[in-house]
Amino acid sequence: MRRSELITSISAMSDACREAKQRGTVALVPTMGALHDGHLSLVRAARASCDTVVVSIFVNPTQFGPNEDYEHYPRTLEEDIELLEREHVNFVFLPHTEEMYPKNGTSTSVNVLSVSERLDGVSRPGHFRAVATVVAKLFHITLPDVAFFGQKDAAQVAVLRSMVRDLNFPLKLAVCPTMREPDGLAMSSRNRYLTPIERAQSLVLYQALSEAQREFQRGIHEARKLRDTMMQVMQREASARIDYVEVVDPDTLLPVNDVSDGALLAIAAHVGKTRLIDNLLLPSTRNE
Ligand code: AMP
Repeated sequence: MRRSELITSISAMSDACREAKQRGTVALVPTMGALHDGHLSLVRAARASCDTVVVSIFVNPTQFGPNEDYEHYPRTLEEDIELLEREHVNFVFLPHTEEMYPKNGTSTSVNVLSVSERLDGVSRPGHFRAVATVVAKLFHITLPDVAFFGQKDAAQVAVLRSMVRDLNFPLKLAVCPTMREPDGLAMSSRNRYLTPIERAQSLVLYQALSEAQREFQRGIHEARKLRDTMMQVMQREASARIDYVEVVDPDTLLPVNDVSDGALLAIAAHVGKTRLIDNLLLPSTRNE
């Protein structure tokens, strides 16, 4: 097996990417580690489309709220590296927090207005500003031709699309479909927190989304009805504490009245101490 090169310093990563760009295209897959098949689907898509693949693993402290799980976030570095070597990843970037955020230099951030304050941005204030800022830093360090993200984090995709467009980042965003367990649960590093009982209860998010999707397929295009359906399914699982249940435009994240032009069904809920998110995209039905 060819080994991936592990790089921790920002300047070494920059140099390696600049050199790789002279030979061909560079892909970046930003992650927080604790890798699962969802992450690996991004890595495989990157491997299939670019000459050099960089995967970053960085549990970014600034995007966690004061009462969130930064300290407890799963860290499985050795297994992660083994998985990435098996996927023939060229570089694994493991930056140090102290170099990413030096004590004397944390005054600049990227604030994508409006979309950052919707969906997860409501209950996680400042989260998307931190995400946009760290992703902008990773883009500048690695200069990717294509950067890969998962549809699983639909609001993050909307924020980063706006950032790339508004700030003219010279790269393409590739958004890969949500990978699920056989029973439908969206794969997530946080699923490790779930007890067996909570794991079963967590299925309600996908059930609610699927029920609304079936109604859509039967011709119901009124967002309010689809939202009511998702709410009703969610309420059947008393242990799930709803954060949001929304039907929105996937780019602006603003609520829509009618889903005929396409829409995003999105849910966030706590099951036990674990916050879970999931979503489904409804296609436009305009030219059927
Ligand atoms: P994270 O490590 O949670 O920050 O995720 C890193 C990247 O993997 C993000 O772009 C996520 O959207 C993506 N990702 C996480 N879970 C999944 C999944 N189940 N399917 C596809 N992509 C995912």
